[in-house]
Amino acid sequence: MVLEVWDLGKIRIFSLARHLGLRSEALLEALNELGIEGATPASAIDEETAKAVAQLLAEQAKQARESALASKQAADEAAVAEPGEEKAAEKAEAEEEEWEEEEEAREEMPAPAFYEAEDPLVALERHLAEMEAQAKEEPRDSVTPLPELVARPRGPRPPNAIEVPPVVTVLGHVDHGKTTLLDALRNTNIVEEEHGGITQHIGASEIEFEGKRIVFIDTPGHEAFTRMRARGAQVTDIVVLVVAADDGIMPQTVEAIGHAKAANVPIIVAINKIDLPGANPERVKQQLLEHDLVPEEWGGDVVVCEVSALKRQGLDDLLEMILLVSEVQQLWGEPDAEFAGIVIEARLEPSEGPIVTILVRRGTLSVGDTIIAGTAYGRIRRLRDWRGKSIKSIECGRPVEVVGLNAVPEAGEIVTACKSPKEARQLAEERLKMRHDAELSAGSGMRLQALYDELHGKERTELNIVLKGDAWGSVEAMASSLEAIGRQMEEIDINIVHRAVGEITESDVTLAVASKAIVLGYNTKATESARRMAEDEHVEIRMYNVIYEALQDIQDAMLGLLKPVYETRQIGTAEVLQVFPMGRLVAAGCRVTEGRLQRGARMVVTRNGQQVFEGTLETLRHFDRDVASIESPNECGVSTPEFRGWQRGDKIEAFIEVEVDRRERSTADNTSG
Ligand code: GDP
Repeated sequence: MVLEVWDLGKIRIFSLARHLGLRSEALLEALNELGIEGATPASAIDEETAKAVAQLLAEQAKQARESALASKQAADEAAVAEPGEEKAAEKAEAEEEEWEEEEEAREEMPAPAFYEAEDPLVALERHLAEMEAQAKEEPRDSVTPLPELVARPRGPRPPNAIEVPPVVTVLGHVDHGKTTLLDALRNTNIVEEEHGGITQHIGASEIEFEGKRIVFIDTPGHEAFTRMRARGAQVTDIVVLVVAADDGIMPQTVEAIGHAKAANVPIIVAINKIDLPGANPERVKQQLLEHDLVPEEWGGDVVVCEVSALKRQGLDDLLEMILLVSEVQQLWGEPDAEFAGIVIEARLEPSEGPIVTILVRRGTLSVGDTIIAGTAYGRIRRLRDWRGKSIKSIECGRPVEVVGLNAVPEAGEIVTACKSPKEARQLAEERLKMRHDAELSAGSGMRLQALYDELHGKERTELNIVLKGDAWGSVEAMASSLEAIGRQMEEIDINIVHRAVGEITESDVTLAVASKAIVLGYNTKATESARRMAEDEHVEIRMYNVIYEALQDIQDAMLGLLKPVYETRQIGTAEVLQVFPMGRLVAAGCRVTEGRLQRGARMVVTRNGQQVFEGTLETLRHFDRDVASIESPNECGVSTPEFRGWQRGDKIEAFIEVEVDRRERSTADNTSG
């Protein structure tokens, strides 16, 4: 899979190592020699570093070859020089044997595949080319269509390319001023007649500063940020981390740092509220150090700006820094390329139907085009820019509001163009079927039980963990035990992608999806919404009160000894808006109020709190077609031959059987009482 390897044009160490036929440790050692320390097999390195390390390995390989050759030559010469003398011949023979032994030993060594075959630089180039070819070959119609389509293009810039604005997301602790800062920035270049500011938010806004544009994602906070990433779409180029100068780094700041780092996105720190008497920016900078963010003024590479969103101080400086950081990234797009975009936000309007904000990543979008986002599709009736002005078309790099889709897609869904509504409809149906099949088989997240299968036929695999605990002491204790067992076990790399104190929240689950991790809770609980989401996203949450049990489970999992247990879980609710006869059946026209309805799910129908039916959800329709599942807030038709007594106002709850871990269930039972 391409994504596993590439992250903003970087290569993961384990993947490069695998390709070069090395163990990750050997590559890490070589990186160490280049002065790159503290990396893990999951760390990403840029192309230049990859080339440098490949070069170093090549030199080492060459030296090994030369010294081997030299000793063989010496042995040969000795044999030739004194052919008559038995002793010399014996000596030569002994040397020959010794050389052969060494040769065998060398062969047994975990030698890079390229030692004999090819130069590592050539191997690396070939690897890059393969990755690119693979990205191109990927079928267009997968359930998660081509996150690469909306990834930033790499490589040489084609002549028709245009400069595109950086996409910025604002993260930080609650009440530190994210919303105020976004509002202030949005209004920096508002013309006179628009005074009073932009009130209608479409999900993204554009700011023009010093003749250059910057796109801001309107939903601050890492939930939206990570949710997008969890879908494979990485849209953010720069994270602005807001830290209140009077409050300093708080738990959500730490989470945000973790999420930005996991996404490999550069962070600009905005120390906010410097107008307050209790403001202490120096203390914030000190605290940043504790999280490996070294401010530039102290010799690091993290840009820090001091601002007051309320008093509008320092905003120009912040914008300038954003442009500076993005300049290095050299972002470009191709307006002539085939269209691709990503859903930033979507809602249902009674008057216009589904309204979708799309960030155009490639090509140009025009009124009349047919597009598809997941399973929602349609011909574009109206386009509006971020200020609500009607436009005819818009090119890559910019956000736009689209009217004309037949359903509300999810944020993070990738949007592509279709030749006709007919083609779009066929594609949507295919995707629905694929999604249904996929839901029945596996999921996006990682399960500990899958470790055994993952390991099958492989020498080594990764186990990514999002770790939450009740206190820092216990989190650290668990983390170091996990890391220790990871070091002991040859077969697995344990990689703690995020560790924090507190309950397991939706944000942890999204991070787990994004990093293909399991969530491990130590002496803590998971919120109900996190559980539900983990369910939908097939992420495993495991709870422990004893470190030893966690370690034991990981070992059991590797041996394939963990046994599954099933449990019924609610996946969604709906409300009946209308009832209509449909041949021999009676269909209920519903709105999905939460989660999703799914064909084949168990459903319970209640009226004024009383259960009136329980049975299988046989048919699920969206407009005029059968669908496998449908999400809130969409409308749908539900029917089953077993029940005809529907009434307006009835409530539907849908349930499915899911696999849970026995221990997780017993802990959940204990904690929820
Ligand atoms: P968010 O939760 O991070 O989005 O924070 P808000 O933008 O809602 O701001 C929280 C509170 O901090 C509000 O009462 C703001 O008026 C206030 N606030 C935001 N920025 C500043 C600032 O620069 N100075 C001062 N004094 N207050 C601010």
